[in-house]
Amino acid sequence: MHYEGNIIRPPSEANSILLQVTVGCSRNKCTFCGTYQGERFKIKPDGIIMADIEFATQYCRRQRRVFLCDGDALIIPQKRLLKILQTIKTQLPWVTRVGAYANAKSLEMKSPEQLAILKSAGLGILYMGLESGDDATLTAIQKGATAEKMIAMARKAKAAGFKLSVTVLLGIAGRERSRIHAIETGRVLSAMDPDYVGALSLMLIPGTPLYNDYQAGKFPLIGAEEMLTELRTLFAHTDLSKGLFHANHASNYLPIKARLPKDKDAVLALIDKALEGQVALKPEWLRAL
Ligand code: SF4
Repeated sequence: MHYEGNIIRPPSEANSILLQVTVGCSRNKCTFCGTYQGERFKIKPDGIIMADIEFATQYCRRQRRVFLCDGDALIIPQKRLLKILQTIKTQLPWVTRVGAYANAKSLEMKSPEQLAILKSAGLGILYMGLESGDDATLTAIQKGATAEKMIAMARKAKAAGFKLSVTVLLGIAGRERSRIHAIETGRVLSAMDPDYVGALSLMLIPGTPLYNDYQAGKFPLIGAEEMLTELRTLFAHTDLSKGLFHANHASNYLPIKARLPKDKDAVLALIDKALEGQVALKPEWLRAL
């Protein structure tokens, strides 16, 4: 397979065929993100993508899923993206689901009809980074979309039939807006009503604008207990009709896996126990991105 630069994928796509269709991220401005630093966004030539699919026909016969890397594959113009999906369908008939990152801009650029066509061509799950439901925080981190836009785009994706997975970032609002960030993120998640939520805890990446702000004393990185308090508030304000809420990423201090709405009270009780010191938190040296 042909890979360029940093390849990332959601944890749930660990066993998928990683088909890199774009290099970098079309936005590449979020202040906390160091994934594609210095990388210029481009869509890979069709010839390379098709050769990779051809490679997968021989060497990836046991993998049932494909993930389209990098940043937001949904930004690829409709005709080209459709061709990629159709080739996957015909060349790799054992593949049951294709996934990709999407952002508010790439979802906005596709019409509901185009999204429905992509869905029927095999694209099954979209991963969106919400990070925060607080507009002031979204502006500060240069996410490029308001909370209301995020809600509208999530609903658009769901209306087209996609499974939707949304990540949020504990600690991203700093200390002063921590509680507002938690409440608003819970509110926005409830309105988006995704199938999966992943809550990560902020880890600063050297070289990013947010890291520089931290070094300059302009951005406070909240500690383990504050992250947990934030998680509790966020979780308490999140109501999903039917979804999985995971805070079990390597960056988190307390691993949580909840099926909502069923597990809500039990998980709140667990977080309370941890806040009272009755449950051990992950030590700093064991946290990772
Ligand atoms: S957080 Fe996502 S959208 Fe923002 S720069 Fe990083 S990859 Fe791109």
